[in-house]
Amino acid sequence: MTLSDPEVLISEADIQKRVRELASKISKDYENCGEVVMVGVLKGSFIFLADLSRQLTIPRVIEFIAVSSYGSGSRSSGAVRLVMDVRGNIEGKHVLIIEDIVDTGHTLNYLIGILESHGPASVKTCALVRKAERAEVDVDIDYLGFDIPDKWVVGYGLDYAEENRTLPYIGTITPLD
Ligand code: 5GP
Repeated sequence: MTLSDPEVLISEADIQKRVRELASKISKDYENCGEVVMVGVLKGSFIFLADLSRQLTIPRVIEFIAVSSYGSGSRSSGAVRLVMDVRGNIEGKHVLIIEDIVDTGHTLNYLIGILESHGPASVKTCALVRKAERAEVDVDIDYLGFDIPDKWVVGYGLDYAEENRTLPYIGTITPLD
């Protein structure tokens, strides 16, 4: 399939501004809570996690978790499988899941369950973008960057078949054939 060049949906400046706002809110909310464990969901969250974690003013450590995703296409089966669990011990810790995008909500819902099974003090969620109209499960996003329309987005960590992850903005792509 041939794809169009990405069209800017959220500019680099708007993303950076929102990341600063989220970091400030998170830093305030977790003040006096001790260390926060930021759990990045591979691969798409790596750039968001890198920027957000460096803006926080509270003690934090970084963990990663990996789940099965859509493969190289864009259709969701709704089934989620754990590919790699967190390495560190998160028992009794405050956990903040860092997701790139929430679409149907199945992935985030599944991740909350997995992380809660490790006995943390709390589990909260942070996602850069959400396609609200696609929601199939009701899942709380404690910190949300942007609501976006139901379009396939790439950039700022998000890919289409591994392409376009390193774009500094979030853009939409459309098939040309
Ligand atoms: P959910 O389980 O919420 O339906 O899907 C979440 C996962 O679907 C995300 O972590 C991401 O891997 C993938 N996904 C859903 N929509 C998009 C999109 O527009 N662009 C990209 N790159 N990934 C998406």
